[in-house]
Amino acid sequence: MTTRSETRTALDHLLTEIEHRNPAQPEFHQAAHEVLETLAPVLAARPEYAEPGLIERLVEPERQVIFRVPWQDDKGRVHVNRGFRVEFNSALGPYKGGLRFHPSVNLGVIKFLGFEQIFKNALTGLGIGGGKGGSDFDPHGRSDAEVMRFCQSFMTELYRHIGEHTDVPAGDIGVGGREIGYLFGQYRRITNRWEAGVLTGKGAGWGGSLIRPEATGYGNVLFAAAMLRERGEDLEGQTAVVSGSGNVAIYTIEKLTALGANPVTCSDSSGYVVDEKGIDLDLLKQIKEVERGRVDTYAERRGSSARFVPGGSVWDVPADLALPSATQNELDENAAASLVRNGVKAVSEGANMPTTPEAVHLLQRSGVAFGPGKAANAGGVAGSALEMAQNHARTSWTAARVEEELSDIMNNIHTTCHETAERYDAPGDYVTGANIAGFERVADAMLAQGVI
Ligand code: NDP
Repeated sequence: MTTRSETRTALDHLLTEIEHRNPAQPEFHQAAHEVLETLAPVLAARPEYAEPGLIERLVEPERQVIFRVPWQDDKGRVHVNRGFRVEFNSALGPYKGGLRFHPSVNLGVIKFLGFEQIFKNALTGLGIGGGKGGSDFDPHGRSDAEVMRFCQSFMTELYRHIGEHTDVPAGDIGVGGREIGYLFGQYRRITNRWEAGVLTGKGAGWGGSLIRPEATGYGNVLFAAAMLRERGEDLEGQTAVVSGSGNVAIYTIEKLTALGANPVTCSDSSGYVVDEKGIDLDLLKQIKEVERGRVDTYAERRGSSARFVPGGSVWDVPADLALPSATQNELDENAAASLVRNGVKAVSEGANMPTTPEAVHLLQRSGVAFGPGKAANAGGVAGSALEMAQNHARTSWTAARVEEELSDIMNNIHTTCHETAERYDAPGDYVTGANIAGFERVADAMLAQGVI
């Protein structure tokens, strides 16, 4: 019988090995630490999981594709970007995970996102494996024609690796409805197939699902509400700080407002806005989705209730709830200390790995309910899987039906994480609950399918 401390030592060795085999990939190391450090109890209790080779296979992607993406700007200049698709684990279904277009993208970032995605997708209970992709292309300030040429060049290589039964990408940072449209068009042109299920996040008129754009933000708010319910509270009247002003942030703000909370901030890489009256979503959508502008414009147009703070930390704004919805490692230990000083009750991650490990520990030690991204933002990929289901059946569901399914999925994820944490002597620890529950489902499928 293996003890927990023997298991911990074996995991520590493996983590050192992961760092050696994957040099200069700090985000991937961070994600691997975060998951593996919580697995000791389940590996000690279930010896079949400690079988040599299982975790080693889990941390090694099944396939990694890196490719050149040449494209011409409006002045005819040639640019060369790098494209990635990491197909991490397909034990539960076709690889599924978004594409990120941002200058900070590199292999380590895509691997961290792909690794997280395995467990997140498992938690949804649906048949989807884990993958992620993207490019170091920066769409900011580019014309529609430039974005289109980039997407066409990107898909001219990517199409070989994807398919409705193989790998189904979606959006992420820098990839929204516009980009998915250009990518889908090029896939259709090259393959001469109407294969709706090859990409998700499509427009509602051509194979997309109602509520998919909203799903990540709505889902995160439902997860936060479930955590509060567990403590005998609800969202009504709670003040919330939200970071980001993209897809996830916008629909987080929308759902918070609909459920009676008061979201008072949003941000982008230039700074943040505080609006005491609550964020005016029509104005924010106009600036971000139509004009593709910056958040300072929001404060300029909104009047006296709002002010723009260049740079700075949105986490200094006092609130009951915090929903980080921009990017990884945006909420560090100082930010967590500031939230705790101001009496925050719950932090729920809309973004992937936005909270640093030190900040997570501080929040948990301080008794704050903490919802990790792989559980709290799983509504996005669940919405994508519902889009795939509609595509396979050549049908489309009403918004009410998709929302009902999403709500059931988020409540189930919350219950699963909560109960798993209790089962492993970590009551209220959603990080442990999410990691172990996601791991158990993937590990069972991998063991059943043999050493591949
Ligand atoms: P968007 O591109 O729509 O929006 C991203 C927002 O975050 C923008 O306001 C952007 O500001 C800000 N941001 C991005 N990078 C940085 C940075 N390095 N520093 C400061 N601000 C930054 O992306 P999404 O809303 O789709 O994604 C946000 C997060 O949610 C990501 O972590 C993503 O992985 C995660 N997520 C997304 C899902 C989805 O369905 N879209 C599903 C699950 C998780 P600026 O424009 O100035 O860069």
